[in-house]
Amino acid sequence: MSNKLKIYLYYLKYKHQKFKDREKLIKYQNKKIRNQIEFIKKKSKFYNDYDSDNLKDFPIMDKKIMMDNFDNLNTIGINKEEALKFAINSEKNREFKSKLNGITVGLSSGTSDTRGIFLVSDKEKDKWAGYILAKYLGNDLYKGSKIAFFMRADSNLYESLNSKQVRFEFFDIFKPMQENLRRLEEFKPNILVGQPSVLIEIAKNKINVNPDKIISIAEVLENSDEEYLKKIFNKEVIHQVYQCTEGCLATTCEYGTLHLNEDIIFIEKEYLDEKRFIPIITDFTRKSQPIIRYRLNDILVESHNKCKCGSCFTSIEKIEGREDDVFLFNGIKEKIVKVYPDFIRRCMLFAGDISNYRCVQNTKEVITIYIDENKNIKEKIYNELKKLAEQLNFIMPNINFKEYSYDKKRKLKRVESLLKE
Ligand SMILES: [Zn+2]
Repeated sequence: MSNKLKIYLYYLKYKHQKFKDREKLIKYQNKKIRNQIEFIKKKSKFYNDYDSDNLKDFPIMDKKIMMDNFDNLNTIGINKEEALKFAINSEKNREFKSKLNGITVGLSSGTSDTRGIFLVSDKEKDKWAGYILAKYLGNDLYKGSKIAFFMRADSNLYESLNSKQVRFEFFDIFKPMQENLRRLEEFKPNILVGQPSVLIEIAKNKINVNPDKIISIAEVLENSDEEYLKKIFNKEVIHQVYQCTEGCLATTCEYGTLHLNEDIIFIEKEYLDEKRFIPIITDFTRKSQPIIRYRLNDILVESHNKCKCGSCFTSIEKIEGREDDVFLFNGIKEKIVKVYPDFIRRCMLFAGDISNYRCVQNTKEVITIYIDENKNIKEKIYNELKKLAEQLNFIMPNINFKEYSYDKKRKLKRVESLLKE
């Protein structure tokens, strides 16, 4: 079966799979959890010795435990060192099409402490693509859509989806924005997908595009940004995919409410107060690198209001966490170069296994990096930033290194700008 056909079948499955009420959903989830437990006990060495059929008897995971037990956890016999080397190489060469033993290997920086490696098989990718299409395109898949995708990494996944009805066009956020904007204006998408900082940039440039649907990905969409985008693009709703490497957690409905994707993920809630909780997720769709009771770093705020769409999936009022800032530097070709937090996080990631850091922009010429003393790492960070400056054509700022610290009363931002625009 072709890749495209598989994705289409998943699309149909998820599009038509509806749950009348919470009870039906829970029954479905329990069945999926049972299957997943059976699978991991057989295929994942890490879980071999667990004798229970009850999810609650399995250990809570986080990125550190997952990375420490990488080799035993994954079910496809991939070794951590090999995977790490492979992933860093693909990132450095910006070559995202190659695979390791048929598996896509990626790095996750995120805002959490250790760097993570994720493994995705083709089947899992197809499922994911089908799921996203079902959630966001609905019947538009038949009407014809032009989808503009702003991403850090190019992906052959979507290109494989191009057909008469649907066209995906990629915009590499590594390229100069003006060039991307020109192409975007020509392409005239009816669906625009990108991270909030990029969407804002597009809105500010007042170019002549008028998408029907705007989908925010990767970063948390702040309320003020959401309002601004609604106003500029004249939309009632800005859609959101709340996704991390550990899974696709939530998507917005037609009323703009973010709902947990409880048809593919089971979510335990570790409550902090009446509404705020830390999600612990178990993904039914991941087989190559099972995600079982994985505790995320984000805090979600639950909404107790029933959504007008009638969905029985939990509604989320907002996501707290992962709110890093964009940096601005003096450019070589352009006056100002914007550097997205993701790029800065990548530099730290490439420099080594840094568990705690903060990177603060003081002025366009000065940044301060808070990190535990280590001369070797500092040099590596400097070199990574220098490479980034060359790639993005900005003037390398001065870097001050200071001992790691942060005000615990404030929310932690790893990448923070103190510049006033
Ligand atoms: Zn809804």
